Amino acid sequence: MTDKGMRAEEKKSIAFFIDLASGFARGGYFRGEREYCFSDDSCADGGSDSLEKTAVSLQNCKACRLCEKRKNTVPGEGAPDPLVMVIGEAPGADEDACGRPFVGKAGQLLDKMLASIGLSRESNCFIANIVKCRPPENREPQPDEIAACSGFLESQIQSLKPRYILCVGRLSSQALLHSAEPLGKLRGRFIDFVTAGMTIPLLATYHPSALLRNEDLKRPCWDDLKLLRAALGAEGAPR
Ligand code: URA
Repeated sequence: MTDKGMRAEEKKSIAFFIDLASGFARGGYFRGEREYCFSDDSCADGGSDSLEKTAVSLQNCKACRLCEKRKNTVPGEGAPDPLVMVIGEAPGADEDACGRPFVGKAGQLLDKMLASIGLSRESNCFIANIVKCRPPENREPQPDEIAACSGFLESQIQSLKPRYILCVGRLSSQALLHSAEPLGKLRGRFIDFVTAGMTIPLLATYHPSALLRNEDLKRPCWDDLKLLRAALGAEGAPR
């Protein structure tokens, strides 16, 4: 199916309908505000290049105020068929400067955490964030900004079909699980994440920036990573 020839308003209505229907399918009614961003001349084929298409659409995205000050969008990077999709919060100054996720101090720690359980963005992980543009002054992304970007993230998850999702930090864990529970209550076990007919086990843990601020979080975070390592090992995934 192609969307060639469809007007942006028509695409918006269809996207709204699909979102509403998928909300019902998950057993709830989504009452949040969600704004869609389309151009009139795009053509979505789906398939293997849809990740690339998401990255291109992001470059023109003006769905929220974060577009005003960004230098670069940060779609994410990693293996195209990942065992694990790691989902963080939002790009910081370093990521905004180069358009790549988790390249600053927190990113270096994240790479070490992943390496400790046999994962890397070069081989078997894809790393992304719930919002793809840097919030000014490194503030937290706001709920409307997270909602405006959620279509991009969902589309990435649906293209990548990761075996597991690892959410780092409270905001990404709460956003994906549609939960207001504190991270302490969400971490430490796999929770099903359901999207477009797929069920993906999701593990929430602490954000590497939190570990840099508070050494006491390293132990529970390591416990979480061991859970992921065991799950991957049980599936015969290379470690
Ligand atoms: N923190 C995040 O949550 N994401 C990044 O890409 C960088 C730092």
